[in-house]
Amino acid sequence: MHTPLSCEFFPPKSDEGALKLRAVTEQLTSALKPEYFSVTYGAGGSTQDRSFATVQAIQTESGVPAAPHLSCIGSTRASIAAILDQYRALGIKRIVALRGDLPSGMRDPGDFRFASELVAFIREHSGDWFHIEVAAYPEFHPQSANARADLLHFKQKVEAGVDGAITQYFYSIEAYARFLDDCEKLQIMIPIVPGIMPISNYTQLARFSDASGADLPRWLRKRLEAFGDDMDGLRAFGHDVVTGLTSDLVQAGAPGLHFYTMNQAVPVINICRDAGLMPSQPN
Ligand code: FAD
Repeated sequence: MHTPLSCEFFPPKSDEGALKLRAVTEQLTSALKPEYFSVTYGAGGSTQDRSFATVQAIQTESGVPAAPHLSCIGSTRASIAAILDQYRALGIKRIVALRGDLPSGMRDPGDFRFASELVAFIREHSGDWFHIEVAAYPEFHPQSANARADLLHFKQKVEAGVDGAITQYFYSIEAYARFLDDCEKLQIMIPIVPGIMPISNYTQLARFSDASGADLPRWLRKRLEAFGDDMDGLRAFGHDVVTGLTSDLVQAGAPGLHFYTMNQAVPVINICRDAGLMPSQPN
């Protein structure tokens, strides 16, 4: 059995970062043969030019298809239509459709309130050209009123024309398993691919988790905190935790694995190697 892998990047801020990312995509391509590389997009178009340049470079140079993220909050229908046309002209076939979060200081939500409206608009504008992925939250979106409401909103989003979903990262496989059960009960039949965040920097991970509502379990937080300045120790421990989670997800039949790379190749390659997921290792 082969588990498809995908890797996510953020658009680099400098030419030096772009060169580094090119080396990272080369390393990941030759080691893992990923299904696609996705590129994040700042809500309100804040990283639009850099995202487009990164998508273009990946699509034309890496040999792996690029999948741009597209967030709709703060945007107009006309501006989203123009971006969709630009991506289509580049031969892009997959989009990760998101609502995003309004950047501080920006008040006008624009023409879209939720990702479901963006999905419906992509179908209206581009038909079935794009394979559409959306975000899913096994530990629930931080703004949702309750778990049930969030699940029903997720169902509504899927029914707008979605092909697959990628989850927010998590470290509790039970949360993912329960989320899949709940989706099955609601007849949500799309593949829901777990998002995996390697652990290499505690401060950064704690900040992301606080902002996104992704749960950093107490036992894990306490252990990571205890490493203090011992970055090598923290990375070795984080590697073991995430490799174990990755193996368990594959054993449980996850339909794919999506890595939040933070623009780093080595942690992802090492996890895949030790979880037996290199293309040369049958899993
Ligand atoms: P939605 O699916 O619209 O949900 C947002 C909230 O609204 C939820 O609480 C939901 O329950 C609620 N809701 C939905 N529909 C309704 C309704 N009809 N009535 C009332 N409430 C409703 N952000 C970026 O800015 N750029 C990126 O590139 C990016 N990439 C991401 C990739 C992945 C895999 C993930 C998991 C997240 C990503 N994000 C990104 C973060 C995401 O934009 C935020 O989590 C954002 O707050 C929600 O986006 P969404 O698409 O999940 O929104």
